[in-house]
Amino acid sequence: MRVRPSFDPDPPVSTPLTLRELSCADDYDPNSMPVDKAREYIRTFLTPVTATERVHVRAALGRVLAEEIRSPIAVPGHDNSAMDGYAVRFDDLSANAAVTLKVTGTVFAGKAAALTMGTGEAIRIMTGGVLPVGADTVVMQEVATRDGDTVTVPPLAEAKIRTRGLNTRKAGEDLKVGSVALQRGARVNPAELGLIASLGINEVTVYRKLRVAFFSTGDELRSIGEALGPGEIYDSNRYTLYGMLTRLGCDIIDMGVIVDTAEAVEAAFATASGMADVVITSGGVSVGEADYIKAVLDKLGEVLFWKIAMKPGRPLAYGKLGAAHFFGLPGNPVSVMVTYYQFVREALLTLAGQTRLPPLPTFRAVLRTPIKKAPGRTEFQRGIFAQDAEGTCSVTVTGDQGSGILSSMSQANCFIILGPATGNVAAGETVEVQMFEGMI
Ligand code: AMP
Ligand code: MG
Repeated sequence: MRVRPSFDPDPPVSTPLTLRELSCADDYDPNSMPVDKAREYIRTFLTPVTATERVHVRAALGRVLAEEIRSPIAVPGHDNSAMDGYAVRFDDLSANAAVTLKVTGTVFAGKAAALTMGTGEAIRIMTGGVLPVGADTVVMQEVATRDGDTVTVPPLAEAKIRTRGLNTRKAGEDLKVGSVALQRGARVNPAELGLIASLGINEVTVYRKLRVAFFSTGDELRSIGEALGPGEIYDSNRYTLYGMLTRLGCDIIDMGVIVDTAEAVEAAFATASGMADVVITSGGVSVGEADYIKAVLDKLGEVLFWKIAMKPGRPLAYGKLGAAHFFGLPGNPVSVMVTYYQFVREALLTLAGQTRLPPLPTFRAVLRTPIKKAPGRTEFQRGIFAQDAEGTCSVTVTGDQGSGILSSMSQANCFIILGPATGNVAAGETVEVQMFEGMI
């Protein structure tokens, strides 16, 4: 079938690193695509799901809103107190003298009908209580002195009253009636669940979940429960993928281990692309004799690119299998996680309908252990990020960075990202880190 010319290796003029500079690198490969370019390229092929469903607010956690949510009510619905204390008129208070006011009533949160109060009066009020008509400020109970049916408020500064309106919350200050509370395409996290509930809404429209089928390839792979023969290993990639995809909120279809024959890979591709929006495989994307993924994808679908200038994870296939998106991840367990987090995650969120995808935040940290690196590609080393009592952020490399050492991902709490222009980095230099937590 049609194969797109993989990628134009001529970088745009604005690219800071020129091909000539890159070619100085010992492992420079003119067909490999820079990480940013690959991400950008994938983005242009992503068409989000459109089917929707109505779900109860709790079931919307982790889903993507398919409707804009406007507030049917003002939140809060009335001016109310932000403190336990006394509702007063700001003009009754004095900057340089204590004033004594007559307490004419009490307001509890949630009790109907606002009370009215006049000059020289105060009303005892609890947090959330409706502000009495005539009151504009609340004095905290801690600074007021109650004596029978009067209360004495010290001078303004001592009463911690800087301005009129202090310790009160205005009707509609969170949301006005009819205002947009949440945009279509927003992911529902705990804050959004609470926000939806605060509007009294109990059902929302979300996009259907993305269906993701995945399988591992390799004659050497055994599944849990099977005995290992000589030279065999347990399949771990299906478990890291299971974890990452489940956390992202996808419906998953685990197709198991597929043996290294063109026929088996072809049959698995046909089944997977018939039932999923996205097909993810691991292994078999290199140029070894048992690596069939690219050849079969060429035959059944469309390969868009398959070499990225990065480590780990250089062979990465992206393409289309019919309507399904295809990611052929490398076989090495660390490479699977790195390529998933750096490319697949963002693509899946977009396909699931999420519209605003801010780049994952990165921090600067002082490198504690030196790193050897050749320029020309982006490296994602595994690091342990820490902050000391003075607030200095530092990061330590987790020892051996081999792409098969999955324990490095478990020990680490961040990636140390070293861009293509970076070479060796000495201890004490500053590097960019990206925390695992937050990648979901
Ligand atoms: P491949 O890309 O198929 O050549 O695989 C590269 C390396 O990753 C080999 O050492 C494989 O044994 C290993 N590998 C491939 N798939 C898996 C898997 N599902 N779980 C653990 N290791 C794997
Ligand atoms: Mg293999």
